[in-house]
Amino acid sequence: MKKLQLTTKIFIGLILGIIIGLLLQGNPQIAATYISPFGTLFLNMIKMIIVPLVFSSLIVGAASVGDPKSLGRIGGKTIAYFLVTTAFAVVIGLILGFVLQPGSGLSIPVDVSQEAAEVPSIVKTLLDIIPANPLKGLVDGNILQVIAFALFLGVSCTLIPQEKSAPFIKFFDSLAEVMYKVTAIVMSFAPIGVFALIVPVVSNHGLDVLKPLSILIFAVYLGCILHALITYSTAVKIFANMSPMTFFKGIAPAAITAFSTSSSSGTLPITISCSKENLGVTDKIASFVLPLGATINMDGTALYQGVCALFIAQVYGIELTIAQIFIIILTATLGSIGTAGVPGAGLIMLTLVLQSVGLPLEGLVLVAGVDRILDMARTCVNVVGDASCAVLVTATEKELVEEEAKSKN
Ligand code: ASP
Repeated sequence: MKKLQLTTKIFIGLILGIIIGLLLQGNPQIAATYISPFGTLFLNMIKMIIVPLVFSSLIVGAASVGDPKSLGRIGGKTIAYFLVTTAFAVVIGLILGFVLQPGSGLSIPVDVSQEAAEVPSIVKTLLDIIPANPLKGLVDGNILQVIAFALFLGVSCTLIPQEKSAPFIKFFDSLAEVMYKVTAIVMSFAPIGVFALIVPVVSNHGLDVLKPLSILIFAVYLGCILHALITYSTAVKIFANMSPMTFFKGIAPAAITAFSTSSSSGTLPITISCSKENLGVTDKIASFVLPLGATINMDGTALYQGVCALFIAQVYGIELTIAQIFIIILTATLGSIGTAGVPGAGLIMLTLVLQSVGLPLEGLVLVAGVDRILDMARTCVNVVGDASCAVLVTATEKELVEEEAKSKN
């Protein structure tokens, strides 16, 4: 028999968990005593990954941007566009999460011991982002501080001579690779983890769990379509005077590949060829913007994290404050820089968003069972977003070059 794909196994874990959960409906204590510990084990393994994974991959991501001085205008535009559209995507995700309320049909009381302590104000949150003691930030798993410190390190690498920064980057690149492997190993336990975590939920709540999951899928797909139609159509029309139809038609082969592979890195060669051949992106811009985009620009992933964070908050009956919403936008936007363009990476990074605002990681399980379906849509948006940036940068650079030529004549 052909080896089953991990996603299929996770899905089977979810279905089996639902069935066993239904069978145990009268006796939830059996699930709590004998099955739940495996779920806790799985969650602990995920928690174990977060800090080293985020730290190393963000340093490498930020360092891969290259020397800001030599990148100049193109680099500046690219990074600005990536950050603005990603933040926009999270906001769309959050709005849909509020409007569609995917998690409101299911209510799982949160374990009081896990509830986030007092929620700090926005000013305190902002001040706290810069760690007075970065090692303490790492040890405490304070995600915003970890992100901030990693970005400082990564960006600084681009400002010193290459021979000095190379060993440092190489070390963290190697750590990141090792952490991807650790993640893969941990994820290979996901079918059991998902099974063990869903059984107690279903034994307590019955089939009520299915409806929220369908609304979640609907919300993510709707968000992806809206983001593409609103953000990218506007960007290519306004900045490149390109009809959105032409843009979407030109990038369609890459979008379809992304949809079916769930990997923006894997889709990169096709994104490059579509952008150059169908959308008039120049060689120079394609070879800078698109690989960088496949590494650090993940609009679809950020949007998905916005929807999922609200979904999980709703399921656990946690009201998010404005400061927490703000943190979600910040962590999802910055966290997307460290998300690898491979299947399922966004799910791991979702733990970062949840952790940053003290939402229960258990909520991941509900999402994990349907994650591949969500991954297809978000990867598609990730890739289309990269291409829209390349189109925009090509057009605005061309204008500048023409203007410069005119003013010389
Ligand atoms: N699969 C996505 C990508 O490759 C990343 C993610 O899991 O969100 O772009």
